Amino acid sequence: MRGRPRVFKAMPAALRLQPAPPVAMFVAAAILMAPTASAVAQQASVVFVGDVMLDEVAGEDIARGSDPLLPFAALLGAADLAVGNLECPVSTGGRAVDKVYTFQANPRVLPIVARHLGAVTLANNHSGDQGPGALVQTMDRLRAAGIPFFGAGRDLAQAHAPLILERGGLRIALLGYDEFKPRSFEAGPSSPGIAWSEDEQVVADIRAARALGADVVIPVVHWGWEKEPDPCPRQRDLARRMIDAGADAVVGGHPHVTQGAEIYKGRPILYSLGNFVFSGFPAGPCRTGWMLRLVLDRQGVVRWDTVVARIDDRGVPHPDPGAASPCGARNEEGVKSCKEDQGR
Ligand SMILES: [Zn+2]
Repeated sequence: MRGRPRVFKAMPAALRLQPAPPVAMFVAAAILMAPTASAVAQQASVVFVGDVMLDEVAGEDIARGSDPLLPFAALLGAADLAVGNLECPVSTGGRAVDKVYTFQANPRVLPIVARHLGAVTLANNHSGDQGPGALVQTMDRLRAAGIPFFGAGRDLAQAHAPLILERGGLRIALLGYDEFKPRSFEAGPSSPGIAWSEDEQVVADIRAARALGADVVIPVVHWGWEKEPDPCPRQRDLARRMIDAGADAVVGGHPHVTQGAEIYKGRPILYSLGNFVFSGFPAGPCRTGWMLRLVLDRQGVVRWDTVVARIDDRGVPHPDPGAASPCGARNEEGVKSCKEDQGR
């Protein structure tokens, strides 16, 4: 499968509750924190999708004027916030690092990303594919395009800072982590890179997000073994540790297949959402992903479900409303199975 990544990143200024952001960041923040229609109810709907890789076939199709996210546009647009994993630097002039698979999407893809996604995580094994300079360029380009990001930064502190977005009157904190090699993509104390999921740091980050006033905290983790249908013990252990620290849900990805869901202390864990926009995989499990939908309030997840995505030959996901996939609700012990076209 597609292998190892590197990442670095910076956040959308205004929303990072960290070091004093420049003025430009405040402007971005004001835009991002615009009130939504659901503000009165103090509930928010947030959807998550898996790997969005916009180099290769998807990049070629976008260059020709098509939009690989179009079949999911209505579902993504119905949420107060849509979040995806951007599995490629978006840059020009990068030089590929020594690695089995390296990607680089042309900046022309950014209007498509901005149209459908309200935030992206950069904490994955591809953000550093073209070197740290290209990651910094990616972060600058995302910021310029009005696309908030998390899980990477100009330094370690920025990479680990939460992206806090307000939707429906809720302050939603997103944290991004990678633990799939190469670790050389990790940010340093004064060098750009991704956030690595060092357990103690993750726990501290979650608590810090709470201390900053977040109502809901959701870590998004790039982990697990590729093509394995079930999560490994490490994933289960870290997911529980994150919930013990205060996470309201855990969202995973990277294995290129879906990996099931479970409830721990009443909170959902989705171990892998699988691929979303990704070409080059043969027919089979790697061509199925999940879009996760969460309804949130101040106590965390009210209810959640998944919509099955079938990925075609060009890496384009299409909703499969007749397919059963995991769902659940607060106060329910286990994970149920739902179909989009039968109601929830
Ligand atoms: Zn990956």
